[in-house]
Amino acid sequence: MNHSNAPFLPFTKPTIDEETISAVGDVLRSGWITTGPKCLEFEKILSTYFGGRPVRCFANGTATMEVALKIAGIGPGDEVITTPISWVSTSNVILAVGARPVFVDVDPLTRNINLDLIEDAITPSTKAILPVYLSGLPVDIVRLYDIAHRHGLRVIEDAAQAIGSSWLGESIGNATKLPSDLVSFSFQANKNVTTIEGGCLVMNDETEALLAQKLRIQGVTKSGLDGMEVDVLGGKFNLTDINAVIGIAQMKHLPEFLVKRRALAEHYFACLRQTQLITKGLELPVEDFEHSNWHMFQVVLPIEKLHALGMNRADIMQKLKDMNVGTGVHYPLINEFKLYRDLGYNSSNTPIAKRISSAILTLPLFPLMSLADVERVVSALELALHEI
Ligand SMILES: *Cc1c(COP(=O)(O)O)cnc(C)c1O
Repeated sequence: MNHSNAPFLPFTKPTIDEETISAVGDVLRSGWITTGPKCLEFEKILSTYFGGRPVRCFANGTATMEVALKIAGIGPGDEVITTPISWVSTSNVILAVGARPVFVDVDPLTRNINLDLIEDAITPSTKAILPVYLSGLPVDIVRLYDIAHRHGLRVIEDAAQAIGSSWLGESIGNATKLPSDLVSFSFQANKNVTTIEGGCLVMNDETEALLAQKLRIQGVTKSGLDGMEVDVLGGKFNLTDINAVIGIAQMKHLPEFLVKRRALAEHYFACLRQTQLITKGLELPVEDFEHSNWHMFQVVLPIEKLHALGMNRADIMQKLKDMNVGTGVHYPLINEFKLYRDLGYNSSNTPIAKRISSAILTLPLFPLMSLADVERVVSALELALHEI
């Protein structure tokens, strides 16, 4: 396979059609370009998708989670149990509201928070569990809520990567058959549904939705033609109608995006199984075609073997890049960042997360890819790892 002549394949890329581009033009021409009717329409579409639950949109997934923590009443003195393998905003928002993240180690196969370890981390200060569904694979939702309910804890699901994922046949964010609480999604450019930047929060009732709406814009409530009250400190977290129309168009395509991602992931498994890579120690993701939306396809490199040969993950990424294959690292360990070390954290209680985080690699996976692209990635990976 000739990799040097192939066009560069990024690890992800949004699918934006001409209809979306012209819808953005329509908003720009309409005279109403910030939060307005399109945001409301997007929220209605999302609410229907989430089984009629209240939904409000925000400027990004980070703001969405910060608002969720505030709705759950989490603040100074409180502890929130979470995972160290996530985009750093997952725990930054806990710090931002004045609470303390408590990191629990991950399951080596799912790479998600290990539910078996949560109860040992609960203290009288624990107020919530904040799980992350890495690459769109949820945790066991029934067990998660069982733990939360037994200990009187709130759950804020960081479902940033999990739109379209499901548990026992119900899409994440729904609460018809399964328990749910606050569920946060991100629509950042890399996610399965994008608004360029954006997010939405699925809530339990209209009281929470009203508070979300206030926290979204400066705590303001308007009434009549000239009435305005501020009774809570809010931020500036609204989603514009430009972003909302992109989301409206994306939601129409979500089912086909999911089908495409699934087919690509299936092909990855088939192609990787035809190589020696697994024998050489390459770890594949959990082969879960029931629950995951295949937001990412992440392998774990045989890092000890690489180190023994004087190589590291960056060397493999460079080799792949030289063959026009883009990769990503999702994610460096949060409890080893300086900000967190300065707060007294370290990774000694999360050894599995530490190992996975040091060796995890995201391979290209996005709906515009072809099966031949998957074959090219696997071939490039074989070449990059041929010395081991
Ligand atoms: C993308 C992401 C976020 C943050 O979303 P933004 O929209 O970028 O603020 C949070 N958590 C996880 C797991 C994510 O993947």
